[in-house]
Amino acid sequence: MCIIATLFLLLPAEASSQTEGLKCLVLDAGHGGRDSGCLSKDKKYSEKNIVLSVVLKLGKMIEEEHPDVKVVYTRKKDVFIPLAERADIANRNKADLFISVHVNANPSTVPRGSETFTMGTHVSDRNFEVSKRENAVIKMEEDYTTKYEGFNPDSPESYIIFSLLQNAYSEQSIKFAKFIQDEYAKGPVKHGRGVKQAGFLVLWRTTMPSVLTEIGFLSNQEDLKILVTEQGQTKIARRLADAFTKYKEDYESHNSLDKEPAEPNNEPEDKIEQIEQIDQFYAIQIMAVNKKLASDAPDLKGRRDARYIYQDGRYKYYLGRYNTREEALKELSEVRKSFKGAFVIVIK
Ligand SMILES: [Zn+2]
Repeated sequence: MCIIATLFLLLPAEASSQTEGLKCLVLDAGHGGRDSGCLSKDKKYSEKNIVLSVVLKLGKMIEEEHPDVKVVYTRKKDVFIPLAERADIANRNKADLFISVHVNANPSTVPRGSETFTMGTHVSDRNFEVSKRENAVIKMEEDYTTKYEGFNPDSPESYIIFSLLQNAYSEQSIKFAKFIQDEYAKGPVKHGRGVKQAGFLVLWRTTMPSVLTEIGFLSNQEDLKILVTEQGQTKIARRLADAFTKYKEDYESHNSLDKEPAEPNNEPEDKIEQIEQIDQFYAIQIMAVNKKLASDAPDLKGRRDARYIYQDGRYKYYLGRYNTREEALKELSEVRKSFKGAFVIVIK
């Protein structure tokens, strides 16, 4: 695909290297300890172990690919964590994003595929069944009626409390959920059931964009074969990691501490501008800033070959130009010796 892109060469300008972005992610492996979640028909496999494995793989990928992101886990081993505590962990850490990972089940062996939920009030019967099952765990907690303000997971009326929610983060949550479902379409669990809304207690009190993803059905033979293998779990984690990268890039291109527009209409005369007809290429982003940097700015650490693209009010500085993601990844560790938070981007 050919797209017109405008590339600017570096020019002396006031330096401001304050970067802000997606700094903290909370990964929540559902269930744990005395709460197994759903089980395979032969009881050999349990949701709690599958999701923990996926979450640990996912966390490792993100830690490696985004050293600028702090990854917090609600659990890293087989322990019971109350639902409210999971949200509290995210809130305490001032997380920018929350992902709760689960496995689905159905009395019928037919339903299969992945689906991703955001907190919402459109409680269809089917979605009610999923949220009822995922919320039921609170009955294993002491004082659950007090703690959850009289919430009864089995009663549809209880779900009315969710309609009182301010959906401050619903737009971003839905966006992230869509990225996840788009990535899932690449397999191994190809059947996508879409982005949905339902009332999940684990998302209820989080104060950041949050999703609950059901990676497949343990009650379906086809999904089960993928869910219980190391390879299947790694691929699912890969999809989630890529969805995270997409979301992070999108988030950072829209989030600027000072909303003051950069001054693209007021460029100095000595600016050299090239307009090229180019194909999409890969590069290594080293930072994104609100103002242009001088080519000798200390933040660039002598890399005069750094280029930037101006996108959504931000100057994204990058190195290199590669035809494939793999080529870029080969250079990444070298670049990270100077720029810890560098990561691979697509420029189109
Ligand atoms: Zn679950």
